[in-house]
Amino acid sequence: MDHGLRTMDYKKHTINPAARQQFNRRKTLTVDEYVEGIRAGNRVVLSRAITLIESTRTDHYEQAQEIIAACLSHASASVRVGVTGTPGVGKSTFIEALGKHVTDAGHRIAVLAIDPTSQVTRGSILGDKTRMANLATNENAFIRPSPAGDSLGGVARKTREAIVLCEAAGYDVVLVETVGVGQSETAVHSMVDFFLLLLLPGAGDELQGIKRGIVEMADLIAVNKADKDKLKLAQQARREYKNALHLYPAKPSGWIPEVMTCSALEGTGIAEIWETIQRYKTAMQENNFWISNREKQATFWLYESIKNDLHRSFFTHKKIKEKLSQVEANVAAGKLSPFKGAEELMKLFLMDNG
Ligand code: GDP
Repeated sequence: MDHGLRTMDYKKHTINPAARQQFNRRKTLTVDEYVEGIRAGNRVVLSRAITLIESTRTDHYEQAQEIIAACLSHASASVRVGVTGTPGVGKSTFIEALGKHVTDAGHRIAVLAIDPTSQVTRGSILGDKTRMANLATNENAFIRPSPAGDSLGGVARKTREAIVLCEAAGYDVVLVETVGVGQSETAVHSMVDFFLLLLLPGAGDELQGIKRGIVEMADLIAVNKADKDKLKLAQQARREYKNALHLYPAKPSGWIPEVMTCSALEGTGIAEIWETIQRYKTAMQENNFWISNREKQATFWLYESIKNDLHRSFFTHKKIKEKLSQVEANVAAGKLSPFKGAEELMKLFLMDNG
């Protein structure tokens, strides 16, 4: 290695802090250095590798793909949990409480996010440093705001890739948070083992803007803020959801979704939720859903990546870039049909790639 540090020098527990700092600050790292740093649990190197994933630069993209490929075989026996719920339901408070609970129990937790609005708001979820202030200083926790991107697909891909790196870094609990208002839940669902929906006491799902499809995806519904004057209301909501869930079709996993109450603020119900997640893992490993679901998800991401790569190579293709605005103008002016225009561009693209 060209940096003069042996691998062991920056391993987590053996590192000389000065050498580590020097290593962390170095401008460029090789793929091997990234992989070794990640494997050693070095959070700075992990962060930098995720930054490469998020970069729009082609050389970064290529380097990131090599790092991911090398990290795949190191993925630990993790549990990936999706957490969703409308703004204000208590997601960050809940993640803090769950994060404390699992790290106290000896786990390491990574918190990632998918926020399709982050492009506009510069990361409305997880972007704010004051969110999860305690977890942020916990050395067994790693928190990463939602990547920005021009499409939900792009944002989701980056998060999915970040999961691989976090697992290789030894985080055995990976939470993926999203705002429970739209398409992003489906994206999160396609990359997690367990899907948790947080709801408020005393409001129907229509009132909370939660779509039926999201309720359908949930393996566990937790009615949060079950404390103080809301306790009774929360218990009533729990019963109502429990009844309502009977009307939903059975899940392919065979799992019957749970409805529980919790208070993220007071920390009640958190242990029970974690126990349920573990019980789910055991049951799904026994009936093989766990592995078959991960395989299905990997296949889904294969096709997503193909689409993404095709899209990317098409729009960055030299001849396409030269021709696109002219075709677009002709289509807009009605001189050329959109289909014919697309066909012409495709021919141009395939001529060089066929
Ligand atoms: P998010 O937007 O979903 O991340 O919600 P936050 O975690 O930021 O919480 C929104 C507000 O609800 C904050 O004022 C929290 O203190 C409060 N909150 C969160 N969890 C609870 C809870 O369990 N009980 C009560 N009473 N308030 C809570």
